[in-house]
Amino acid sequence: MNVPMLLPQFLDRAVKLYGKKAAIIGEKQTYTYSEVNNRVNQLSRGLIETGVGKGDRVAYLAPNTSEMYEGFYGVLQLGAVMVPLNTRLKPEDYVYILNHSGSKVLFVDHELMNQIEPIREQLTMVEAIIVHDLEQAGDGLIPYENWLEQFNTAPVDRPEMDENDLATLLYTSGTTGKPKGVMLSHRSNFLHALTSMHHLRVSDRDVLLHVLPMFHVNGWGSPFYYTANGAAQVFLKKVVPEEIFRKVNEYGVSVMHMAPTVLNGLLQYADKQETVKAASNLRIVIAGSAPPPAFVKRVEEKLHWEFIQVYGMTEASPLITTSIIRDTQDHLTNDEKYRLKSKAGYEFIGSEVKVVNEDGDEVAHDSHEIGEIVVRSNTVMEGYWNNPEETNHIIRNGWYHTGDMAVVDEQGNIEIADRKKDIIISGGENISSIEVEGVLYDHPAVLEAAVIAVPHDKWGETPQAIVVLREGHEASEDELITFARSRLAHFKAPTIIVFVEELPKTGSGKIQKVHLRKDYWKDKGRLVN
Ligand code: ATP
Ligand code: MG
Repeated sequence: MNVPMLLPQFLDRAVKLYGKKAAIIGEKQTYTYSEVNNRVNQLSRGLIETGVGKGDRVAYLAPNTSEMYEGFYGVLQLGAVMVPLNTRLKPEDYVYILNHSGSKVLFVDHELMNQIEPIREQLTMVEAIIVHDLEQAGDGLIPYENWLEQFNTAPVDRPEMDENDLATLLYTSGTTGKPKGVMLSHRSNFLHALTSMHHLRVSDRDVLLHVLPMFHVNGWGSPFYYTANGAAQVFLKKVVPEEIFRKVNEYGVSVMHMAPTVLNGLLQYADKQETVKAASNLRIVIAGSAPPPAFVKRVEEKLHWEFIQVYGMTEASPLITTSIIRDTQDHLTNDEKYRLKSKAGYEFIGSEVKVVNEDGDEVAHDSHEIGEIVVRSNTVMEGYWNNPEETNHIIRNGWYHTGDMAVVDEQGNIEIADRKKDIIISGGENISSIEVEGVLYDHPAVLEAAVIAVPHDKWGETPQAIVVLREGHEASEDELITFARSRLAHFKAPTIIVFVEELPKTGSGKIQKVHLRKDYWKDKGRLVN
């Protein structure tokens, strides 16, 4: 008999096995798994009263908080669909997403109400706005805690659900036009959670600090797999190094997922503060984006945290590969391990990942040929919400085309070269911006670097680096160019360096090269997105 794989089963299991154990450790309050489950039931009852049923969409606009965590289970056990919103968007984006998704209820953190106030009139589908941390009702807004306490904590009757039912709908950042809604089923999220638990060795001793935003797919996956294994969860509202170190030490945090730019900020902070002790309980730090081996080494040797690289995207639930050091590879030196961890590695159990050239043939191992990563997996999305053209464009013959370019090393490890749109083509040669950035990051004065293509009369394009220097350090353009030329083939070295105070970043901390490129490609026809 087939038993459907449904996400509420994860919390059910945690209540059974870990009912009295801390589930959520908050600044204000700590809840056991049974207590959280009670609040989740109250939330579901409130939603039913508001008219939410199977298939309805419920949106969340909140920083990482326990209230948002409750939403994942309170919404999903009704067969309704969770729509987490990126907190860094503009009010007009919220109008588009809330109307396009047809979200019936909107939960908002009171600190973000200023984003919603100006557009309330335009939200044609939203029937109720419930505000976290709001003291008093008024102006049609419902305070979350007062609302919640009206409902009883008994389990709700769940509707008949199928594992292929939609569970989550996340909108992409919309750099190439209107944002697209990525549809992920219970089954995709469930299988992703199982493989992540395995690859990241999640245990009931773990304490997770939610650093990655929970509106981001890698952030929202974690409420599932950490819950299923009875780990405790701590929430971070503001991503600042001091606060991260404080929470790590105070709550005995053992695992964090974060963007490498945030990890870089922690290293920088630790460099300045002799007193920062990297907490001994911290087991692993997990990051996407291909960092150079020197970066991995700094994390492991300076902070004493094990680094794990993961690779994935919203459309794949998200993780599809990770750098795996096998237990039987004890003979590797630390430097060999850092080198391996700087690669995206091997596919997650249950995913088939290939790197293919333009003819669709797999690139040979160790050939240095760059191809596109394509994936076929139980965790790939059902498609984009109400957008069949875009779905058919990106999923062809059952393979999802990631738009990411990679090479495969002699052992079969996938090594990300670049996004297709970020590759620099100079004099007919492909240059990986990631490789050039890796070299610049090795320079002691460089805090952050982004390398982009800018137009060049002779070569078509040339690499330009945009650099943020470390506080108290100096380096000239010539010095950095010479440094890069000493470590790279000359055609790959940047020919121009621009210094800035700060680089533009997405809500999850990724550098937005599209914004950096725009100024240089006006009217010149390069695909800047
Ligand atoms: P959008 O699709 O809305 O423009 P996005 O692609 O940045 O935004 P995500 O789905 O969060 O949104 O990110 C997935 C992308 O991040 C991947 O396609 C890849 O380009 C990059 N990425 C993820 N993991 C890694 C990694 N380990 N190394 C290099 N790049 C990575
Ligand atoms: Mg993408």
